[in-house]
Amino acid sequence: MPSVAQTEKFFPLADWGQLLAQSLRSSDELLAALELQPSDFAEGLSLAKQFPLLVPRPFVQRMAKGDPQDPLLLQVLPLAAEDQLHPGYSADPLGEQDTNVATGIIHKYHGRVLLLAASGCAINCRYCFRRHFPYSDNRLGRSQWQSALDYIAADSSISEVILSGGDPLMLQDAHLADLVEQLAQIPHVQRLRVHSRLPVVIAERLTDQLIELLTRTRLRSSLVLHVNHPQELSPLHAQRLAMMRQAGITLLNQTVLLKGVNDSAEVLIELSEKLFNHHLLPYYLHVLDRVQGAQHFDVSSAEAYTLYQQMLARLPGYLVPKLVREEAGQPHKTPLHAF
Ligand SMILES: *Cc1c(COP(=O)(O)O)cnc(C)c1O
Ligand code: SF4
Repeated sequence: MPSVAQTEKFFPLADWGQLLAQSLRSSDELLAALELQPSDFAEGLSLAKQFPLLVPRPFVQRMAKGDPQDPLLLQVLPLAAEDQLHPGYSADPLGEQDTNVATGIIHKYHGRVLLLAASGCAINCRYCFRRHFPYSDNRLGRSQWQSALDYIAADSSISEVILSGGDPLMLQDAHLADLVEQLAQIPHVQRLRVHSRLPVVIAERLTDQLIELLTRTRLRSSLVLHVNHPQELSPLHAQRLAMMRQAGITLLNQTVLLKGVNDSAEVLIELSEKLFNHHLLPYYLHVLDRVQGAQHFDVSSAEAYTLYQQMLARLPGYLVPKLVREEAGQPHKTPLHAF
Protein backbone atom coordinates (compact mmCIF):
# COMPACT_ATOMS: atom_id res chain seq x y z
CA MET A 1 0.00 0.00 0.00
CA PRO A 2 1.44 3.41 -0.88
CA SER A 3 1.43 5.89 2.01
CA VAL A 4 -0.76 8.96 1.80
CA ALA A 5 2.29 11.09 1.02
CA GLN A 6 3.30 8.83 -1.88
CA THR A 7 -0.21 8.78 -3.33
CA GLU A 8 -0.11 12.56 -3.19
CA LYS A 9 2.82 12.68 -5.61
CA PHE A 10 0.73 10.92 -8.24
CA PHE A 11 -2.23 13.26 -7.75
CA PRO A 12 -0.92 16.79 -7.23
CA LEU A 13 -3.37 19.19 -5.59
CA ALA A 14 -5.22 21.61 -7.82
CA ASP A 15 -4.26 25.25 -7.28
CA TRP A 16 -6.53 26.63 -4.56
CA GLY A 17 -6.11 30.21 -5.82
CA GLN A 18 -7.48 29.21 -9.19
CA LEU A 19 -10.40 27.38 -7.61
CA LEU A 20 -11.08 30.48 -5.54
CA ALA A 21 -11.02 32.71 -8.61
CA GLN A 22 -13.62 30.46 -10.29
CA SER A 23 -16.15 30.90 -7.45
CA LEU A 24 -19.79 31.58 -8.23
CA ARG A 25 -20.92 35.14 -7.52
CA SER A 26 -24.61 35.30 -8.32
CA SER A 27 -27.78 33.50 -7.30
CA ASP A 28 -28.66 32.96 -10.97
CA GLU A 29 -25.39 31.16 -11.62
CA LEU A 30 -25.76 29.01 -8.51
CA LEU A 31 -29.39 28.08 -9.16
CA ALA A 32 -28.55 27.18 -12.76
CA ALA A 33 -25.70 24.91 -11.60
CA LEU A 34 -28.14 23.14 -9.27
CA GLU A 35 -31.00 22.97 -11.80
CA LEU A 36 -33.23 25.13 -9.61
CA GLN A 37 -35.50 28.14 -10.33
CA PRO A 38 -36.09 31.24 -8.19
CA SER A 39 -39.72 30.06 -7.97
CA ASP A 40 -38.52 26.99 -6.02
CA PHE A 41 -38.11 29.37 -3.05
CA ALA A 42 -41.59 30.31 -1.87
CA GLU A 43 -40.54 33.47 -0.01
CA GLY A 44 -38.24 34.69 -2.80
CA LEU A 45 -34.62 35.76 -2.99
CA SER A 46 -32.94 38.71 -1.26
CA LEU A 47 -32.79 42.02 -3.09
CA ALA A 48 -30.06 43.52 -0.87
CA LYS A 49 -26.61 43.73 -2.37
CA GLN A 50 -24.28 44.59 0.51
CA PHE A 51 -23.25 41.00 1.33
CA PRO A 52 -23.26 39.29 -2.08
CA LEU A 53 -23.36 35.59 -2.83
CA LEU A 54 -19.92 34.01 -2.97
CA VAL A 55 -19.37 30.26 -3.14
CA PRO A 56 -16.48 28.17 -4.49
CA ARG A 57 -17.21 25.40 -6.98
CA PRO A 58 -15.94 22.49 -4.86
CA PHE A 59 -18.58 23.43 -2.25
CA VAL A 60 -21.27 23.66 -4.94
CA GLN A 61 -20.28 20.17 -6.07
CA ARG A 62 -21.17 18.86 -2.62
CA MET A 63 -24.75 20.21 -2.95
CA ALA A 64 -27.58 17.99 -4.21
CA LYS A 65 -29.05 19.04 -7.57
CA GLY A 66 -32.72 19.97 -7.62
CA ASP A 67 -33.07 20.29 -3.83
CA PRO A 68 -34.05 23.80 -2.64
CA GLN A 69 -33.62 22.62 0.97
CA ASP A 70 -30.07 21.38 0.53
CA PRO A 71 -28.24 22.17 3.80
CA LEU A 72 -25.17 23.55 2.01
CA LEU A 73 -27.21 25.67 -0.37
CA LEU A 74 -29.17 27.23 2.51
CA GLN A 75 -25.91 28.47 4.04
CA VAL A 76 -25.00 30.54 0.99
CA LEU A 77 -28.17 31.54 -0.88
CA PRO A 78 -29.43 35.06 -0.05
CA LEU A 79 -33.14 34.66 0.75
CA ALA A 80 -35.67 37.46 1.16
CA ALA A 81 -35.86 36.71 4.90
CA GLU A 82 -32.45 38.40 5.23
CA ASP A 83 -33.86 41.77 4.29
CA GLN A 84 -36.22 41.96 7.29
CA LEU A 85 -35.16 43.78 10.44
CA HIS A 86 -35.90 42.10 13.77
CA PRO A 87 -35.71 43.65 17.23
CA GLY A 88 -32.76 42.22 19.18
CA TYR A 89 -30.69 41.59 16.04
CA SER A 90 -27.92 44.14 15.56
CA ALA A 91 -25.01 44.85 13.24
CA ASP A 92 -22.42 44.19 15.99
CA PRO A 93 -24.00 41.65 18.37
CA LEU A 94 -20.72 40.78 20.09
CA GLY A 95 -19.62 44.34 20.80
CA GLU A 96 -16.43 43.47 18.92
CA GLN A 97 -16.05 46.97 17.66
CA ASP A 98 -15.23 47.87 21.33
CA THR A 99 -12.62 45.13 21.79
CA ASN A 100 -10.89 46.08 18.53
CA VAL A 101 -8.00 47.51 20.59
CA ALA A 102 -5.40 47.94 17.85
CA THR A 103 -5.58 47.70 14.08
CA GLY A 104 -6.22 44.07 13.27
CA ILE A 105 -6.42 42.87 16.90
CA ILE A 106 -9.45 41.78 18.95
CA HIS A 107 -8.46 41.22 22.56
CA LYS A 108 -11.47 40.01 24.48
CA TYR A 109 -10.32 36.98 26.51
CA HIS A 110 -7.40 36.47 28.87
CA GLY A 111 -4.21 35.14 27.33
CA ARG A 112 -5.31 35.02 23.72
CA VAL A 113 -5.94 37.53 20.96
CA LEU A 114 -7.52 37.35 17.55
CA LEU A 115 -5.27 38.68 14.84
CA LEU A 116 -7.39 39.63 11.82
CA ALA A 117 -4.86 38.43 9.31
CA ALA A 118 -7.00 38.77 6.18
CA SER A 119 -10.16 40.68 5.45
CA GLY A 120 -11.85 38.47 2.88
CA CYS A 121 -13.41 35.03 2.95
CA ALA A 122 -13.65 32.31 0.32
CA ILE A 123 -17.38 32.01 0.94
CA ASN A 124 -20.06 34.37 2.18
CA CYS A 125 -22.03 32.52 4.85
CA ARG A 126 -25.46 34.08 5.25
CA TYR A 127 -25.52 33.65 9.04
CA CYS A 128 -22.11 35.23 9.59
CA PHE A 129 -21.80 37.52 12.60
CA ARG A 130 -19.05 39.40 10.79
CA ARG A 131 -21.18 40.43 7.84
CA HIS A 132 -21.31 43.98 9.15
CA PHE A 133 -17.79 44.20 10.59
CA PRO A 134 -15.70 47.14 9.33
CA TYR A 135 -13.08 44.95 7.67
CA SER A 136 -11.96 47.65 5.34
CA ASP A 137 -10.67 49.60 8.40
CA ASN A 138 -8.87 46.49 9.63
CA ARG A 139 -7.24 45.18 6.52
CA LEU A 140 -3.73 44.26 7.57
CA GLY A 141 -1.35 44.73 4.71
CA ARG A 142 2.04 43.22 5.49
CA SER A 143 3.29 46.69 6.39
CA GLN A 144 0.55 47.00 9.01
CA TRP A 145 1.31 43.73 10.76
CA GLN A 146 3.82 45.69 12.80
CA SER A 147 1.20 47.47 14.91
CA ALA A 148 -0.50 44.17 15.71
CA LEU A 149 2.85 42.50 16.47
CA ASP A 150 3.81 45.45 18.71
CA TYR A 151 0.56 45.10 20.62
CA ILE A 152 1.19 41.38 21.22
CA ALA A 153 4.84 41.92 22.12
CA ALA A 154 3.87 44.57 24.70
CA ASP A 155 1.50 42.29 26.64
CA SER A 156 3.25 39.32 28.22
CA SER A 157 -0.08 37.80 29.32
CA ILE A 158 -0.73 36.81 25.67
CA SER A 159 0.34 33.19 25.22
CA GLU A 160 -1.82 32.31 22.23
CA VAL A 161 -2.38 34.10 18.94
CA ILE A 162 -5.42 33.12 16.93
CA LEU A 163 -5.22 33.93 13.25
CA SER A 164 -8.70 34.91 12.22
CA GLY A 165 -10.34 37.22 9.74
CA GLY A 166 -12.20 37.24 7.47
CA ASP A 167 -10.36 34.04 6.76
CA PRO A 168 -6.62 33.92 7.53
CA LEU A 169 -6.02 31.19 4.95
CA MET A 170 -6.88 33.73 2.25
CA LEU A 171 -3.23 34.75 2.73
CA GLN A 172 -0.65 33.07 0.55
CA ASP A 173 1.51 30.51 2.36
CA ALA A 174 4.63 32.66 1.98
CA HIS A 175 2.90 35.57 3.76
CA LEU A 176 1.59 33.28 6.47
CA ALA A 177 5.05 31.83 6.96
CA ASP A 178 6.47 35.35 7.47
CA LEU A 179 3.76 36.20 9.95
CA VAL A 180 4.26 32.99 11.92
CA GLU A 181 7.99 33.58 12.00
CA GLN A 182 7.49 37.06 13.44
CA LEU A 183 5.05 35.79 16.05
CA ALA A 184 7.51 33.07 17.05
CA GLN A 185 10.05 35.78 17.83
CA ILE A 186 7.83 37.08 20.65
CA PRO A 187 9.02 35.02 23.63
CA HIS A 188 5.74 34.85 25.59
CA VAL A 189 3.72 33.56 22.62
CA GLN A 190 3.51 29.77 22.97
CA ARG A 191 0.60 28.72 20.81
CA LEU A 192 -0.64 29.51 17.34
CA ARG A 193 -4.19 28.78 16.32
CA VAL A 194 -5.70 29.16 12.87
CA HIS A 195 -9.48 29.50 12.58
CA SER A 196 -10.63 28.92 9.02
CA ARG A 197 -13.50 27.83 6.84
CA LEU A 198 -11.57 28.06 3.58
CA PRO A 199 -10.25 24.45 3.59
CA VAL A 200 -13.79 23.21 4.21
CA VAL A 201 -15.01 24.76 0.98
CA ILE A 202 -11.71 24.22 -0.94
CA ALA A 203 -9.86 21.23 0.54
CA GLU A 204 -6.94 22.00 -1.79
CA ARG A 205 -6.08 24.87 0.57
CA LEU A 206 -4.44 22.31 2.89
CA THR A 207 -1.17 22.54 0.98
CA ASP A 208 2.15 20.89 1.81
CA GLN A 209 3.54 24.40 2.41
CA LEU A 210 0.81 25.13 4.96
CA ILE A 211 1.61 21.91 6.83
CA GLU A 212 5.27 22.83 6.78
CA LEU A 213 4.83 26.37 8.05
CA LEU A 214 2.62 25.17 10.90
CA THR A 215 5.09 22.49 11.96
CA ARG A 216 8.54 23.99 11.54
CA THR A 217 7.79 26.87 13.98
CA ARG A 218 8.59 26.54 17.70
CA LEU A 219 4.92 27.47 18.40
CA ARG A 220 2.46 24.64 19.04
CA SER A 221 -0.04 24.83 16.20
CA SER A 222 -3.68 24.01 15.97
CA LEU A 223 -6.19 24.39 13.18
CA VAL A 224 -9.87 24.92 13.94
CA LEU A 225 -12.05 24.25 10.92
CA HIS A 226 -15.63 25.37 10.60
CA VAL A 227 -17.74 22.47 9.31
CA ASN A 228 -21.51 22.75 9.82
CA HIS A 229 -22.83 19.66 8.09
CA PRO A 230 -21.48 16.14 7.36
CA GLN A 231 -22.11 16.60 3.63
CA GLU A 232 -19.35 19.26 3.58
CA LEU A 233 -16.59 16.69 4.15
CA SER A 234 -14.97 14.79 1.25
CA PRO A 235 -12.32 12.09 0.75
CA LEU A 236 -9.80 14.83 -0.08
CA HIS A 237 -10.41 16.37 3.36
CA ALA A 238 -9.75 13.00 4.97
CA GLN A 239 -6.50 12.63 3.05
CA ARG A 240 -5.13 16.11 3.71
CA LEU A 241 -6.20 16.16 7.36
CA ALA A 242 -4.53 12.77 7.89
CA MET A 243 -1.29 14.35 6.69
CA MET A 244 -1.73 17.30 9.04
CA ARG A 245 -2.39 15.02 11.96
CA GLN A 246 0.66 12.94 11.16
CA ALA A 247 2.63 16.19 11.18
CA GLY A 248 1.48 16.83 14.76
CA ILE A 249 -1.02 19.65 14.21
CA THR A 250 -3.99 19.61 16.60
CA LEU A 251 -7.19 19.53 14.54
CA LEU A 252 -10.49 20.81 15.91
CA ASN A 253 -13.85 21.87 14.53
CA GLN A 254 -16.46 24.43 15.40
CA THR A 255 -20.04 24.40 14.16
CA VAL A 256 -22.80 26.97 14.19
CA LEU A 257 -26.24 25.59 15.02
CA LEU A 258 -28.48 26.64 12.12
CA LYS A 259 -32.18 26.14 11.65
CA GLY A 260 -32.90 24.11 8.52
CA VAL A 261 -29.23 23.12 8.17
CA ASN A 262 -28.12 21.07 11.17
CA ASP A 263 -30.78 21.49 13.89
CA SER A 264 -31.47 17.79 14.37
CA ALA A 265 -29.88 15.24 16.69
CA GLU A 266 -29.34 12.83 13.78
CA VAL A 267 -27.37 15.38 11.75
CA LEU A 268 -25.30 16.58 14.72
CA ILE A 269 -24.44 13.04 15.81
CA GLU A 270 -23.52 12.05 12.26
CA LEU A 271 -21.41 15.21 12.04
CA SER A 272 -19.43 14.40 15.20
CA GLU A 273 -18.76 10.85 14.02
CA LYS A 274 -17.76 12.00 10.55
CA LEU A 275 -15.50 14.74 11.96
CA PHE A 276 -13.67 12.10 13.96
CA ASN A 277 -13.28 9.94 10.85
CA HIS A 278 -11.73 12.99 9.20
CA HIS A 279 -9.26 13.50 12.10
CA LEU A 280 -11.15 16.46 13.61
CA LEU A 281 -12.45 16.70 17.17
CA PRO A 282 -15.65 18.67 17.78
CA TYR A 283 -14.71 21.73 19.88
CA TYR A 284 -17.60 24.21 19.93
CA LEU A 285 -21.24 24.15 18.88
CA HIS A 286 -22.23 27.82 18.77
CA VAL A 287 -25.74 29.10 18.98
CA LEU A 288 -26.29 31.83 16.43
CA ASP A 289 -25.16 35.36 17.15
CA ARG A 290 -28.06 37.76 16.84
CA VAL A 291 -26.88 39.52 13.74
CA GLN A 292 -29.19 41.44 11.44
CA GLY A 293 -30.25 39.32 8.48
CA ALA A 294 -29.72 35.93 10.16
CA GLN A 295 -32.88 35.64 12.24
CA HIS A 296 -34.31 32.87 10.05
CA PHE A 297 -31.41 30.59 11.13
CA ASP A 298 -32.10 31.01 14.84
CA VAL A 299 -32.61 27.93 17.01
CA SER A 300 -33.98 28.73 20.47
CA SER A 301 -31.78 28.10 23.50
CA ALA A 302 -34.26 25.52 24.78
CA GLU A 303 -34.13 23.57 21.49
CA ALA A 304 -30.34 23.86 21.39
CA TYR A 305 -30.08 22.43 24.88
CA THR A 306 -32.38 19.52 23.99
CA LEU A 307 -30.18 18.69 20.99
CA TYR A 308 -27.11 18.87 23.21
CA GLN A 309 -28.63 16.41 25.67
CA GLN A 310 -29.40 14.01 22.82
CA MET A 311 -25.75 14.20 21.77
CA LEU A 312 -24.63 13.53 25.35
CA ALA A 313 -26.87 10.48 25.50
CA ARG A 314 -25.57 8.94 22.29
CA LEU A 315 -21.93 9.92 21.79
CA PRO A 316 -18.67 9.34 23.67
CA GLY A 317 -17.78 12.42 25.71
CA TYR A 318 -14.94 13.49 23.40
CA LEU A 319 -17.31 13.71 20.43
CA VAL A 320 -19.72 16.11 22.17
CA PRO A 321 -18.82 19.74 21.41
CA LYS A 322 -19.25 22.43 24.06
CA LEU A 323 -22.55 24.22 23.47
CA VAL A 324 -21.82 27.94 23.81
CA ARG A 325 -23.04 31.41 23.13
CA GLU A 326 -20.82 34.42 22.51
CA GLU A 327 -21.83 37.32 24.76
CA ALA A 328 -20.57 40.87 24.76
CA GLY A 329 -18.61 41.74 27.90
CA GLN A 330 -18.14 38.17 29.19
CA PRO A 331 -14.64 36.80 30.00
CA HIS A 332 -15.23 33.56 28.04
CA LYS A 333 -17.78 31.95 25.74
CA THR A 334 -20.88 31.24 27.78
CA PRO A 335 -21.94 27.59 28.13
CA LEU A 336 -25.67 27.02 27.72
CA HIS A 337 -27.45 25.33 30.59
CA ALA A 338 -30.85 23.80 31.13
CA PHE A 339 -33.69 26.27 31.52
C1 LIG B 1 -13.84 32.54 20.51
C2 LIG B 1 -12.91 33.64 20.70
C3 LIG B 1 -11.61 33.41 21.18
C4 LIG B 1 -11.10 32.03 21.48
O1 LIG B 1 -11.76 31.49 22.56
P1 LIG B 1 -11.46 30.00 23.01
O2 LIG B 1 -12.46 29.74 24.08
O3 LIG B 1 -10.04 29.98 23.50
O4 LIG B 1 -11.62 29.12 21.83
C5 LIG B 1 -10.78 34.49 21.38
N1 LIG B 1 -11.20 35.75 21.13
C6 LIG B 1 -12.44 36.00 20.69
C7 LIG B 1 -12.85 37.41 20.44
C8 LIG B 1 -13.33 34.96 20.45
O5 LIG B 1 -14.56 35.22 19.98
S1 SF4 C 1 -16.00 34.67 8.63
FE1 SF4 C 1 -16.41 32.46 8.46
S2 SF4 C 1 -18.64 32.27 8.74
FE2 SF4 C 1 -18.20 34.41 8.23
S3 SF4 C 1 -18.44 34.56 6.02
FE3 SF4 C 1 -16.26 34.21 6.44
S4 SF4 C 1 -16.07 31.98 6.30
FE4 SF4 C 1 -18.24 32.39 6.53
